[in-house]
Amino acid sequence: MSILKERLAKFTYADEVKNAGLYPYFREISSDQDTEVMINGKKVLMFGSNSYLGLTNHPKVKEAAKEAVDKYGTGCAGSRFLNGTLDLHIELENKLAEFFEKEAALIFSTGFQTNLGVISCLTGRNDYIIIDEFDHASIIDGTRLSFSKVVKYRHNDMTSLEAQLAKLPSDAVKMIVVDGIFSMEGDIAKLPAIVDLAKRYKAEIIVDDAHAVGVIGKNGSGTASHFGLVDDVDFIVGTFSKSLASLGGFVAADKVAIDFMKHHARSLIFSASIPPSSAASALAALDLMKNEPQLMEKLWDNTNYAIKSLRELDFEIGPTESPIIPIYVRDNEKTFQVTQFLVENGVFVNPVISPAVQSGDSLIRFSLMASHTHEQIDFALEKLIEARKVIQFGIEAEQEIL
Ligand code: PMP
Repeated sequence: MSILKERLAKFTYADEVKNAGLYPYFREISSDQDTEVMINGKKVLMFGSNSYLGLTNHPKVKEAAKEAVDKYGTGCAGSRFLNGTLDLHIELENKLAEFFEKEAALIFSTGFQTNLGVISCLTGRNDYIIIDEFDHASIIDGTRLSFSKVVKYRHNDMTSLEAQLAKLPSDAVKMIVVDGIFSMEGDIAKLPAIVDLAKRYKAEIIVDDAHAVGVIGKNGSGTASHFGLVDDVDFIVGTFSKSLASLGGFVAADKVAIDFMKHHARSLIFSASIPPSSAASALAALDLMKNEPQLMEKLWDNTNYAIKSLRELDFEIGPTESPIIPIYVRDNEKTFQVTQFLVENGVFVNPVISPAVQSGDSLIRFSLMASHTHEQIDFALEKLIEARKVIQFGIEAEQEIL
């Protein structure tokens, strides 16, 4: 065996979990993806999706995708920079710029690639990027591709952010990059305080609104809008893979910054553009998001109902304030056992362990969609209570110790 293969073979953790019959990843779904999905020929309720507005199966979104395939074909076979720009991409960029109240917008192939391209190209060798310790992996990887120095502050801790900013040279370019809604914890960035500090220390701000679009702000326009701070956030990054029911990512900003990124963001220039069907479905979903406010209202009704119920039932869910609800199990094996128990009993959730969260913080990521019913949420809660009894986590585990 080669040295590399020998090293790879030492990674046995996934096999151990598989051998224990608990492997929870790459599960095959064989149906459409609304609140009920088919897994292994069995119907389960979906509480693990990021399709917060429940639009992946909406007739208007599906129709738009089909029409785009008929008109433009299935792929663009090139990058935006060269042969891969369609009038659909430009229409979507113009609508995104208008919706996020910025001068211009630019579409990338995924949200992950957006962060890679945007974060790596804006700042240089003598500059600083300042990130929240819980920022998404794509932000971290964007900083790894950048030549700038990277500084972390404690999660949503403004004293820690200020302490870090105060250490940096006053004449250096400083870029704060933060998730709008944190992808695992579900809490919202303290943007008013961040804006305040950014002004005092002359820093720029990128907000990654992957989980905030369609969830907070005017018509779902995200965190900056939620706090009335659109003019104070320099770059709004987002994805089409969550509320916008498609695939792709974008950044909205000043025209001068977008023009620069068009010619410097390597993940944009050297990667194919999103296919026509993805652009068309994102456009249709954006339209629905703007024009059907009842979708967001329903999402919040479900979110408030689930958060209140889980707190009353003494599940540890941290300070979430969004449709992303972390149910802390705090033990990897038990987290897998709970996931398994739930799927066998008709509920799909996502297990999250280190490095996606800090070790000791393993959790079940329970997420809501506008299309869920209270009855479906009640069913999931009932199964969660059973899982807690059988697997002994949270208050059940504490009672055991007492
Ligand atoms: N940013 C955040 C905060 C995310 O949670 C994600 C996806 N989980 C992304 C970026 C990447 O988005 P995409 O799926 O479009 O690559």
